[in-house]
Amino acid sequence: LVSRENHPERSTVRVGGVPIGPDTVTLIAGPCAVETPEQTLGAARMAIAAGATLLRGGAFKPRTSPYAFQGLGEAGLRILAEVREETGLPIVTEVVDAREVDLVASYADMLQVGTRNMQNFALLRAVGAAGRPVMLKRGMNATIEEWLMAAEYIAQRGNLDIVLCERGIRTFETATRNTLDISAVPVVQRLSHLPVIVDPSHSGGHRDLVLPLTRSAIAAGADGVIIDVHPHPEQALCDGPQALVDGDLGELARVMRDFPPLL
Ligand code: PEP
Repeated sequence: LVSRENHPERSTVRVGGVPIGPDTVTLIAGPCAVETPEQTLGAARMAIAAGATLLRGGAFKPRTSPYAFQGLGEAGLRILAEVREETGLPIVTEVVDAREVDLVASYADMLQVGTRNMQNFALLRAVGAAGRPVMLKRGMNATIEEWLMAAEYIAQRGNLDIVLCERGIRTFETATRNTLDISAVPVVQRLSHLPVIVDPSHSGGHRDLVLPLTRSAIAAGADGVIIDVHPHPEQALCDGPQALVDGDLGELARVMRDFPPLL
């Protein structure tokens, strides 16, 4: 269903009216985690300043440590909905449990399935039936074939509004949080009609890497990028070191606006 063989035209997925697909490079930005109404609104205003048309923000956070901030849950979803009301930005937010899909879908414009859940087949089936576009992040240990098969689980449920997101894979390299597999962008576009975007924040793990990796994603032909921003990253409850700050937004806007999409 997701293969390009039977569907030669590349697809565009619309999220609350915002297109992600071959004719555009979409910027999704926002906080890694929703913490407070002020922080989320502040991050949304930063996202708009950089040219973002979709807001990201996690209310249910899949953390490696059970002692780390797990997200605000439904209270976080309510904050996202308020910020959408205030700014008009549609919301992309993660769902981590098949039993919470209906709840998250009742607030979200797009459901995110994170790297740790790429092969959570019950969750994939549930988001496939939720009636919302889905962003499927690549498992950190997954081959491209396994990633596309995970998308197939969602598509099988009748939902072809799927955006794939390359977010870095595990390698022996420790200088970056993950190794951005930039070649996944053209490979996926050859194999699948689905849009593919890149997460330079979670792959690099450090704000200094976000703009260079964004340039490389756009140069490789990515259909969009998803980027963490935070008004006060030193106080962030999740992934502060990778969040862009106010001073980075002008350059991000310029990269999004001026960088030739195809060299
Ligand atoms: C995220 O985008 O908030 C996230 C946790 O990303 P990943 O699943 O890629 O680690």
